[in-house]
Amino acid sequence: MSSVSMPSATAGLEPGFRGVICASFGPTGDTAGHDTGGQPRHDLRFESATPESLAALRSVLGNSHVGVRLVLAGPAADIRAAAAVAADCGLLDSEVTLLGNEVGARVIYCPHCHTTTIMQGAGSEVECQGCAITLAVTDHFSRRMSAYLGYSAYAEEAS
Ligand SMILES: [Zn+2]
Repeated sequence: MSSVSMPSATAGLEPGFRGVICASFGPTGDTAGHDTGGQPRHDLRFESATPESLAALRSVLGNSHVGVRLVLAGPAADIRAAAAVAADCGLLDSEVTLLGNEVGARVIYCPHCHTTTIMQGAGSEVECQGCAITLAVTDHFSRRMSAYLGYSAYAEEAS
């Protein structure tokens, strides 16, 4: 039975898996160093975010327990595509961790809407993809959120 082209992404995955799914994309995408806090983990490795790999990811998420966590590593474009699939599968932003590894790419956490935005290049400001405010980027990296903390660069209305 070698005609099956679907990667067996769900192989070894128990139905109702409850833990951390670590999906990495590309030759450098690597979630191995991610600390799952002692929770069981299921590793996936894809060349890139092709329709096939995204379908495999979707099936894994579909077989997992509600509340499963997802860690994505790799080029920003790939992990953004995968994050969109995760959102489509009902995962909350807080359940998905993005580990961008492109040179200069950083993940910025918005304290206002709790969305993470991938920032390319070496700028000091980025528009939050969640609430569209301009975030100033700090050098403070939160290991818990795997993101740099941002703050509102233009707090025009103090609340
Ligand atoms: Zn925001």
